[in-house]
Amino acid sequence: MVQTVLRQPDSRLRIPSIPLEQNEVTSKEMKSLIQDLIETMHAEHGVGIAAPQIGVSKRVIVIQTGQKPEVFFNPKILSASFRKVNSEEGCLSVPGMFGIVRRHSRVEVEAWNEQGENVRIKADGLPAIVFQHEIDHLDGILFIDKVIRFTTKHTL
Ligand code: ZN
Repeated sequence: MVQTVLRQPDSRLRIPSIPLEQNEVTSKEMKSLIQDLIETMHAEHGVGIAAPQIGVSKRVIVIQTGQKPEVFFNPKILSASFRKVNSEEGCLSVPGMFGIVRRHSRVEVEAWNEQGENVRIKADGLPAIVFQHEIDHLDGILFIDKVIRFTTKHTL
């Protein structure tokens, strides 16, 4: 079901999310949370969403920069490029605001996938940015905390 996206300054967006146990990942409750996250992301035309954005303080993110949404549990940045890029971002939880954030151009992320398997992803371009933005949500961080300049249009 499409859920209400919490909006800044809702304090629940600032709660650090809890890591999941491996047996939680494939539970029925989790399947329903994943479905809610995907439906909500689609309804809001986002390229990513994190569970705390719908009021669930658990380390789950969904990213969709291609055809299909991908789900990651307990995602962790293992390594990041020295090179950074200016990323123009918006956020479903900060409607109507856009700005430039410095992000690593490449990241390597370790997580569990929907089957509970350990995966490592090397991301660059848009997926690298979305991983950093969504993982920030799990730590209670919003892009407006890191913005170097607000802009009027958005590209993400
Ligand atoms: Zn966001």
